[in-house]
Amino acid sequence: MEEATLLNTLKEYFGYDSFRPLQKKVIDSIFDGKDNLVIMPTGGGKSICYQLPAILLPEITLVISPLIALMKDQVDGLTANGVPAAYLNSSQQEADQQAIFQKIDNRELKLLYVAPESLQFIDKILTEGKISLIAIDEAHCISSWGHDFRPAYTQLGYLKNRFPSTPVIALTATADKATRSDIAQQLNIPKAKKHVASFDRKNLSLEVRPGIKRFEQIATFVKNRKKESGIIYCLSRKTTEEIAAKLKAKGFKAEAYHAGLSHDDRTRIQDDFINDEKQIICATIAFGMGIDKSNIRWVIHYNMPKNMEGYYQEIGRAGRDGLPSDTLLFHSYADVVQLQRFASNAANEEVQLAKLDRMKQYSEALTCRRKILLNYFGELKQEDCGNCDICQNPPAFFDGTVIAQKALSCIFRLKGSEPISTIIDVLRGSQNEAVLSKNYQKLPTYGVGSSISWHHWQQYIIQLINIGYAEVAFHKNNHLQLTKAAKNVLFEGEKVRLAEVPDRKTIQQETEAS
Ligand code: ADP
Ligand code: ZN
Repeated sequence: MEEATLLNTLKEYFGYDSFRPLQKKVIDSIFDGKDNLVIMPTGGGKSICYQLPAILLPEITLVISPLIALMKDQVDGLTANGVPAAYLNSSQQEADQQAIFQKIDNRELKLLYVAPESLQFIDKILTEGKISLIAIDEAHCISSWGHDFRPAYTQLGYLKNRFPSTPVIALTATADKATRSDIAQQLNIPKAKKHVASFDRKNLSLEVRPGIKRFEQIATFVKNRKKESGIIYCLSRKTTEEIAAKLKAKGFKAEAYHAGLSHDDRTRIQDDFINDEKQIICATIAFGMGIDKSNIRWVIHYNMPKNMEGYYQEIGRAGRDGLPSDTLLFHSYADVVQLQRFASNAANEEVQLAKLDRMKQYSEALTCRRKILLNYFGELKQEDCGNCDICQNPPAFFDGTVIAQKALSCIFRLKGSEPISTIIDVLRGSQNEAVLSKNYQKLPTYGVGSSISWHHWQQYIIQLINIGYAEVAFHKNNHLQLTKAAKNVLFEGEKVRLAEVPDRKTIQQETEAS
């Protein structure tokens, strides 16, 4: 497709003068007839990647989207811009559905939004020639490795079998490397071109504080932000209501939001928030998916999120307009324990616990938090960000090159097939079963770190993960593996700066006080 045509269409239907990074690449690839997997942060501009081709392609574009509320917004927006679009879902009247089928038959529609649960009846109406593109939004919902698994999504692999020559575009805001491959696998698009946008949201400040006297801290936080919109995420419905009540008592326009409220109440609260009638929403994670409010100035996590994907997505709702916005996470061991309990009943318990562990390590980190967050999504950063609490108040550092070399070469010797605990055992020359049963006492790295305590080794290795020299393989028994960057330390003499590990006693005292 000609670039001028694309730009004209962008201007005419969306009012924009240029594409964002990646949008153009994705669109070109669709016109090449390829399958595509797009990973772009919330607010990155995913919709245009399929809505714009949909306008120019000869036949209809089928959009799979998980949330009915979201569908309606998108269709309303498109219709207002002059793009003929409709949605089908189970809540509609028979007559409305028939009217849409008629439009499909008459080739009057450019986009058709469908919930994954309603695929069957689409299947009867659309045949291969009648459909130009299949877009699958929130594609991470297909993967039980992702953070928002939806059983209905697992049927979607069927689409590629049924429409083998129709290009598929799968989009998501959050997927770690393993989840990405899983999405492509399950959608039967193993050769899909992967487009990964930068996840760096420089305008969001990152801060973590101990979860002590949380409400007092929040009260201080919002005191000088009377005109700013913000969200406070909580784990339980009860907490959302308690905090909202306390904030109201202090004169703030706050409201609780959770899945226990009626549909009407939820819609009203959302609208009030979007229209700045309500200033603060105290919500469970049910709130926010699909909310398009660009001037949210801050997000607080009253409780720990259960993994980094959720955390990133939730803080990502702040500052979509690009202006400076603040995020604050309260770290509490009580939360970690509770989340561990939730995870222990889940089907993929081990993965969930390991992801929770990474979340906990992020909260306890002594290195630039943005680096950790971006590393987690596979984006390696050299520079510290300057806009997180660690950068602004750095711990004491020392030259940890030798320690790093020892740890990384131990991971190398163990061929990425052992968890952190065994690596520490080998480094410390431990004589336990995990070591002796595999003859690890014969390795050259055995015992080279015996003068450093277990706790210190653990903290150093977590730092090495956080910096990006090693990673936890969630889907391979949580074994620790080296990343490419580790080579620089092992073979190129790269220096490693480590943070002094605080004494264990201080950490425990803080916890007991909370
Ligand atoms: P996502 O689905 O990735 O969260 P959206 O598609 O909702 O993001 O886009 C986020 C915001 O960016 C929307 O307000 C959208 O209109 C705007 N946007 C998208 N593409 C462009 C562009 N090329 N130029 C300017 N604004 C854009
Ligand atoms: Zn930083």
